Amino acid sequence: MQFLKELAIDAHNYGVSTGKNWHGSKQNGELEVFSPVDGKIIASVYPASAEEYGDTVKQAATAFNVWRLTPAPQRGEVIRQIGEELRLSKNALGTLISYEMGKSLQEGLGEVQEMIDICDFAVGQSRQLYGFTMASERQEHRLYDQYHPLGVVGVITAFNFPAAVWSWNAMIGAVCGNTLVWKPSSKTPLTAIAIQKIITKVTTANDLPEGIFNIIVGSGAEVGERLLADKRIGLVSVTGSTKVGRHAAKVVAARLGKCILELGGNNAVIVTESANLQTAIPAVVFSAVGTAGQRCTTTRRVIIHDAVYDTVKEALLKAYASLRIGSPLEEKNHMGPLIDINAVKEYEQALQTLQEQSGKVIFGGNVLSGGEFLSGCYVEPVLAEVENKYEIVQQETFAPILYLIRYSGSVEEAIALQNDVTQGLSSSIFTENLREAELFLSASGSDCGLANVNMGTSGAEIGGAFGGEKETGGGRESGSDAWKAYMRRQTVTINYGTTLPLAQGIKFEI
Ligand code: NAD
Repeated sequence: MQFLKELAIDAHNYGVSTGKNWHGSKQNGELEVFSPVDGKIIASVYPASAEEYGDTVKQAATAFNVWRLTPAPQRGEVIRQIGEELRLSKNALGTLISYEMGKSLQEGLGEVQEMIDICDFAVGQSRQLYGFTMASERQEHRLYDQYHPLGVVGVITAFNFPAAVWSWNAMIGAVCGNTLVWKPSSKTPLTAIAIQKIITKVTTANDLPEGIFNIIVGSGAEVGERLLADKRIGLVSVTGSTKVGRHAAKVVAARLGKCILELGGNNAVIVTESANLQTAIPAVVFSAVGTAGQRCTTTRRVIIHDAVYDTVKEALLKAYASLRIGSPLEEKNHMGPLIDINAVKEYEQALQTLQEQSGKVIFGGNVLSGGEFLSGCYVEPVLAEVENKYEIVQQETFAPILYLIRYSGSVEEAIALQNDVTQGLSSSIFTENLREAELFLSASGSDCGLANVNMGTSGAEIGGAFGGEKETGGGRESGSDAWKAYMRRQTVTINYGTTLPLAQGIKFEI
């Protein structure tokens, strides 16, 4: 395939790299990577041995000593060049993301665009790593805060955004002066290898040392666990399920390291009585079936006012009936496959549990087979009528299952339903009523990290800080002031006088 050639992905690939140097241990077997699009093996990867893991982190720690002293705007210049390389590789990389992960080509290209955007953002950020200057209470004293690079940052990523989430961490982390060790999902390692090769063109052209950007392919149980427990890694960013994040938080906290947690969501759209259904319906459908329901921000629940419930239900049924399922590489299709057969099993299990809990499936629910669905990973999107309190509704099933929930009272009732789950990532309301919109955004409104008005729950821009509350983990990445998490904050007090006044007026004379 031409795009694999362009990205220098071979039939067999090493999974460990500090830049120009690639390693991978044949003794640890070979990780075969299947495409959910057609079920074929794309390529294979030799994962890391314990020794290779150790050497890579050592190299990252050594490179940090050089990179932290490189002026931040010069670090920004390197990131600018990475953005340029990504522009040149956008088509090939977008196609690989689509083929390896199964999201539509449009979304694959969008993911690369997101990487380019975060590069641009990070270039600007490289000149704005500033702190405040405060008024000192003491005469002839200056008080201010400053930000220093943190060290080696570990980045563990999920399969569903195999490129963009890493770039949020890596591009911002790198302009902040850190070196990065990336453990990608074992379901999508080829995208990571391709990115490492793109980055290496830039680090080589700039004569930078090995070890600024590193990847280590390997399982969560081996490489992931090592990374969590590694005292040389001051900050670990974990994107994944709440189960893995909860475990990561414990292991990293036990060594008093820092964590950025970006975990599961259970996102809802509230459709009020006054909602503009011309925008609400397509927004809900895109947010529910985009990436085959495998976004952390996927709409899983739609909370509909009684007065418009039947109209919304009919419109959703009609829209779902018009969805085209098939190869994500073909633009005419709206929805591609799930990531693998296990994900299909979880979809089937969730639907069975849903029915046991009195949920009513009103659309879809079948696994597709034969013809273009040979990989066994294609499923029909589902609409189901439920109550918010059902256990299965309270969970995140990573599949295109949309729950319809009715409310009949005020918007406060809808907000209470929306907040009545353990996760807190993304939320949205469709309303033409200012009071309802403002209540939704108020302190007693949505309890999520992301709150949208008259748009769906997915598709965030990089300019804002991304992340969620409660069991979504509380982390923030990407834009706004999320950069501060990647730096060591230092409060500085300078006495430029000739006396020694103490804070709080304390007297101490000798
Ligand atoms: P997952 O939790 O199965 O895996 C995530 C990553 O953790 C993978 O790289 C995996 O290898 C690693 N891992 C697994 N066990 C580990 C261990 N013991 N120690 C260290 N690392 C370990 O998640 P997934 O199936 O790849 O992705 C889907 C999940 O990710 C969903 O829950 C989704 O909501 C979440 N997600 C969240 C965000 C966000 O920003 N909040 C973004 C994308 C995905």
